[in-house]
Amino acid sequence: MDSSKSKDSTNSGLQETNSDINDEEKNDLCPGFKDADAFVKYGLGAVLSATKASAGLPQTGDEYDFYRSFPGFQEFCESQGDKLLHCMSQIMQHHGCRSRMRDRNKLTGLEERFDLVVDSNDVILERVGILLDEADGVNRNQQPVMPAEFQPPKIVVSSWNRMGSSSGSRSETFRLLQAKNIARPQMKFKEKVDNSNTPFIPKIFIKPNAVKPLPSYFTNKQIRKERPEDLDVPAALADFIHQQRTQEHVEDMFAHPYQYELDHLTIQESVLSKPEPQMYKPLTETKCSFIDTLDDLVALNEKLCKLSEFAVDLEHHSYRSFLGLTCLIQISSREEDFIIDAIELRSELYILNEAFTDPAIVKVFHGADSDIEWLQRDFGLYVVNLFDTHQASRALNLARHSLDQLLKHFCNVNSEKRYQLADWRIRPLPDEMVQYARMDTHYLLYIYDCVRVQLLDFNHGQPGLLQSVWNKSKDISLKKYTKPIFTEESYLELQRKQKRSFNTQQLTAFRLLFAWRDKLARQEDESTGFTLPTHMMNKISEELPKEPQGIIACCNPVPPLVRQQVNELHLLVQQAREMPLLKVRKDGCQKVSESDLQHCSPDGKLDTLIRLIILLILNSASFLKELETQNDHESLSVAQMKARRIIECFENPFRMYLPSSDVHISKNAKFDPSSKIFEISKRWKLLSMEQQQKELEAKKEANKKAKEEAKERTKKESLQNVATVRQQAAVSGGKKRERVASEVGESTPKPSKKQMKSAEKPQKTEPPPKDSFKPFDYSQSDLKVFAGMYFMLTICLFLLYRGFRHNWPKR
Ligand code: AMP
Ligand code: MN
Ligand code: ZN
Repeated sequence: MDSSKSKDSTNSGLQETNSDINDEEKNDLCPGFKDADAFVKYGLGAVLSATKASAGLPQTGDEYDFYRSFPGFQEFCESQGDKLLHCMSQIMQHHGCRSRMRDRNKLTGLEERFDLVVDSNDVILERVGILLDEADGVNRNQQPVMPAEFQPPKIVVSSWNRMGSSSGSRSETFRLLQAKNIARPQMKFKEKVDNSNTPFIPKIFIKPNAVKPLPSYFTNKQIRKERPEDLDVPAALADFIHQQRTQEHVEDMFAHPYQYELDHLTIQESVLSKPEPQMYKPLTETKCSFIDTLDDLVALNEKLCKLSEFAVDLEHHSYRSFLGLTCLIQISSREEDFIIDAIELRSELYILNEAFTDPAIVKVFHGADSDIEWLQRDFGLYVVNLFDTHQASRALNLARHSLDQLLKHFCNVNSEKRYQLADWRIRPLPDEMVQYARMDTHYLLYIYDCVRVQLLDFNHGQPGLLQSVWNKSKDISLKKYTKPIFTEESYLELQRKQKRSFNTQQLTAFRLLFAWRDKLARQEDESTGFTLPTHMMNKISEELPKEPQGIIACCNPVPPLVRQQVNELHLLVQQAREMPLLKVRKDGCQKVSESDLQHCSPDGKLDTLIRLIILLILNSASFLKELETQNDHESLSVAQMKARRIIECFENPFRMYLPSSDVHISKNAKFDPSSKIFEISKRWKLLSMEQQQKELEAKKEANKKAKEEAKERTKKESLQNVATVRQQAAVSGGKKRERVASEVGESTPKPSKKQMKSAEKPQKTEPPPKDSFKPFDYSQSDLKVFAGMYFMLTICLFLLYRGFRHNWPKR
């Protein structure tokens, strides 16, 4: 099948030309065959016999190895193999897929080739699907031209999405108009794109039509361009100076530069009264100029300034850029159409502000929401006196509000939105795309007339409804562009939108991948969708592949940056796998229920006791936090007191051997014979029962004593604030009685930092004997720091034990 030809026929902008090509195509659809059926029959036969033949080949591990010991056979296989690879390569090339099948030196070998085949099959099948749909007359919503995995980074409000919303979920995937090797326009930009994770600051530096002058921040190039790192002083000082300097401008920096003008804009009488619709000129009789030089742009601006209205639309590209970039600006007057190369003239386009912000000139857009933001972001352009025909369509309660509908309704023009998602960076711009682009504005001024008439008629000649459309349009022109900002919570927003339930490991992977993707996308100036499409990110998070190859397998086709950084990604997934496994509640909290613990053991039959312990452990982190916020005993409920006591009896006896607090300890370390923690835990296990018994008794004794003493002390000193359990325990230690007493006197029920520090220090007054294991003085533990970890360790040991004697939990 000749794909290039069928593409032509699907891409033609107007419907009459379609039928000609279709007729011509019918004749040589399947050269050498009577009709398509004959071709299919033949093709099917060929595929069947090929399948049969391949099944008849000697199998590995069967006769194959034997046969292969004959050089003749080996040679034959190799040459046939090469032939096949060549054939496949050619088919792939024909379909515009990657096709380096024959490169025998490739390390990845078979797997790589297999990927290539899968990718190509996907591309070809997708194409077949589209063509079949088209033959059926379905024409899939005439969707062009985006990569299958393309996900617009955010919802773009323009004429299209009204149309899209009515056509079901199938239209979510788009195919990119294949334009290979488009040079990245960003390379040519005079001013580098600012993808940093900082808020957007308007680009404007000259303000035509100002009623209120532009704040000095924007006019003073020096302040604007100055970065802290450019100051010739030490970094910390530079930051400080920079902060001081910008602080006084903050309000201006983030305000809408034309806020004042827009707030004081009054709609002219002339546009509120009923117009006589002025018919558009036929496309063929209208001059269309492509503007890509500064001279032409200046001339255009002069022209526009003399008009009383003109129509504007933008074409945009968002796949190979982090923030997106405007590629074209289409402008139509009643007489002429203009297509501005917004990539070429990017840093000059600001001069159009003279016409765009002139309150005496109406600018007609259709669905301007995104356009307004893109104009600010890329050129520092603003619009004063906007009329949005999409708002008019809504006010008129028309059935649909897309530009297509208005064109059909008012101009009886059938437009196809085929190029809406085309790659608008292509230069030179193919003529069909120019023609398409100009249709977006060519009829708009006539539509502007028509809707104004209807809005007045609809309201029995009263201007109220029309006025409301002007007001809504003004609100749109007041919109400010905001840059996507990455925060620690950004991933949750996306995760919540997807309504997937992830466990802690999956959610961690999702969070780490999200951060990786954001950082890399900013750095490489690619969209997040290009870097790692969300559905692939979901798949990786869900599957948590153990091998880098598994990550590749989650992606089809594999995004180039994923392939490049697969090892980094693998490390992130590994990190996620080290999280304790819990389900995540809808509200994002991570409390566990007993049933969740089934996941902790492969056979799902953990002993109830163990499960209860784990439950306690897993919830202890949040519980401890809750306890920490309680100020004293009096505010603890009986249940909380009880729970606290339970937790306290889980204190870590070998805490003093562990690294200082806040050090992340990998779970694996506890199972790694070379690690310190493994050694400690083994020692602990080997501790004789006798010794443990002794300790227990000693502790009981000490506790009893402590309680008595504490009681006495409480009475004697008649304390207002009761000490915490921990402090009471500390008192019982006896060794630090004086200190603790003074602290109690200070009435600091919450353990102070100072206290924690001192608890961590090994005893200086009574150094432990070097050889023997000295039981730890429980009374000095800071349970909050290590309780959770110790719990985990206990469980790990239980599980280890179970592993060695694997019938144990069943009894
Ligand atoms: P339009 O105003 O219809 O010409 O659309 C302007 C720009 O919006 C196009 O160049 C596209 O970049 C973008 N756009 C249009 N339709 C879609 C869509 N369905 N999804 C994402 N972006 C779109
Ligand atoms: Mn538009
Ligand atoms: Zn458009």
